[in-house]
Amino acid sequence: MKNQQAAEKFTGIMEKFIGLSSKRLPDDVFEKLKELRDKEESPMQKVIYDTYFDNLQKAIEMSRPCCQDTGLLHFYIKAGAEFPYIGIIKDCLHDAVARATVSAPLRQNVVDYFVERNTNDNTGERIPWINWDIIPDNDEMEITTYFAGGGCCLPGKAQVFKPSDGYAAIVRYVFDAVSDLGINACPPLIVGVGLGHNVENAAVLSKKAYLRPLGTHHQHPKGANLEKQLTEGLNKLGIGAQGLRGNSAVMEVHIESSGRHTATIAVAVNTACYAHRCGRIRFNKDLSYDIISYEGATL
Ligand code: SF4
Repeated sequence: MKNQQAAEKFTGIMEKFIGLSSKRLPDDVFEKLKELRDKEESPMQKVIYDTYFDNLQKAIEMSRPCCQDTGLLHFYIKAGAEFPYIGIIKDCLHDAVARATVSAPLRQNVVDYFVERNTNDNTGERIPWINWDIIPDNDEMEITTYFAGGGCCLPGKAQVFKPSDGYAAIVRYVFDAVSDLGINACPPLIVGVGLGHNVENAAVLSKKAYLRPLGTHHQHPKGANLEKQLTEGLNKLGIGAQGLRGNSAVMEVHIESSGRHTATIAVAVNTACYAHRCGRIRFNKDLSYDIISYEGATL
């Protein structure tokens, strides 16, 4: 396929996929919300969960985004080194976002820092934000589309501790961050924790952590155990859906890590809200595709 033809095809698919992802929660998140609703005891919590589900149903029926804050568009891309269209993807995603802003429709959220004006099509300087991972010996491309809302996962926290602070500093920091940031989002949250060597690498890892599908664990048993303990601990804070009293502040805590410097312990925390609009799609080298996050969905 010629690049121009491929660009038109890919942009059209992504425009529709962005629209779908703004309206429907991924299957794993939807199932988790049902499970947490059943665990709540207070009538108020049940009402809030039922309102969430009612809202999600109406979003599908009316073909409208399931939250008014459709956020900034983030794309996390795993691109096979042999995927033939890597060179056109950035521009195509830019066009797909602008088109989806009208067709979905999406709220216009992007403001230029120095012109101080809304760009009106959800694109702008370095927006959509794209994170690339290149996968060797592979000819596919997997794209995670994320709607990063202003009250949930755009405010995040990061800090570098000294080794003398100990790993207990990580736990304290996560609890403080969730009790501070979490109530401004709409719980139950998916908490992404990045453990790295400086603030920027920890911050990126914390984003990748909350994008991991629910039910997956850190690759190291100790990391997986820390995820479990943090999840259980945060769910004892007494924060429930919409920040009111309840049993489940979080759906899960996910940790992603990298090696650290002997002198640093870097921690970042990001809180993704109940409206975790995280769509995953995989393209083959001929631009045929599989929708991963929504069973039975078509574009
Ligand atoms: S926290 Fe999430 S659900 Fe709540 S308003 Fe923001 S984007 Fe929407």
